[in-house]
Amino acid sequence: MPIHSPSRTGAVVARTLPDLTAALAGRDDVALVPTMGALHEGHRALLRAARAAAATVVMSLFVNPAQFGPGEDFASYPRDEEADLSVASAEGADVVFAPGADVVYPAGFAVSIDPGPLGGELEGRSRPGHFRGVATVVTRLFGLVRPQRAFFGEKDYQQLVIVRNVARDLALGVEVIGVPTVRDADGLALSSRNRFLSPSERERATTLSAALRAAGRLHAAGERDSALLLDTARTRLAMDPDYLELRRRDDLGAYDPNRPAILLVAARLGTTRLIDNLSLEDA
Ligand code: AMP
Repeated sequence: MPIHSPSRTGAVVARTLPDLTAALAGRDDVALVPTMGALHEGHRALLRAARAAAATVVMSLFVNPAQFGPGEDFASYPRDEEADLSVASAEGADVVFAPGADVVYPAGFAVSIDPGPLGGELEGRSRPGHFRGVATVVTRLFGLVRPQRAFFGEKDYQQLVIVRNVARDLALGVEVIGVPTVRDADGLALSSRNRFLSPSERERATTLSAALRAAGRLHAAGERDSALLLDTARTRLAMDPDYLELRRRDDLGAYDPNRPAILLVAARLGTTRLIDNLSLEDA
């Protein structure tokens, strides 16, 4: 794969569809990195993977109202566009697409994408409509940017699988590429929401990844019994999880002891909801 050098002049910011069309004119081999901003090292890893893979890197920056439910944190979701633009430029993004909601959802917008049954499981059970919102905005971004590749974090593993399903089933012509989760030194998966944790919540949050790793070690030692693996993880959690589930890794179908597996967890710490997962074969 050719390595392309980052742009030296900083990313072009496109806020409207004509801006975007102008910014993309004459560009092919486009990689898209969709984000909601408040960028951290996890987003940087996606931008680097995209930069290494494609001639043109487009980062979208849009806090998508359609993927937040009533009572969720849409209003308080962290926003810092100035910092995000400098991170995107530092990581060599060519274009930052930062549209307003009226650009993504213009008057008359009426279609949404059903993410299929997986959209109602795991995260979807706690967040009805979330993955419909994700699938719809990602499909629209794919239509607007027309990337050949798109990069998503394994941290949001169910989102990655659903976006892959959408791209495959609707034949969108986009290769969806997963990027490994970036973690703090104590194991906590980086998230824009971590800043909302109090010191004591931050400490309890480390038990999420510790619990996953404990089950991972047991799995690496040959244990395949789902109840034992789940109990090992559950006893290490400092909170009651929304869910703690073992699934097949490739498509998040029912756990099969003879196939690659993934352990997924979600929990609320105060008002902050965190998710994490671990591929057990990697443990
Ligand atoms: P967000 O801005 O939270 O919507 O995330 C944008 C993209 O960054 C998604 O594909 C996420 O999965 C990915 N991402 C978020 N946190 C991490 C992380 N800690 N490691 C890797 N990717 C991440």
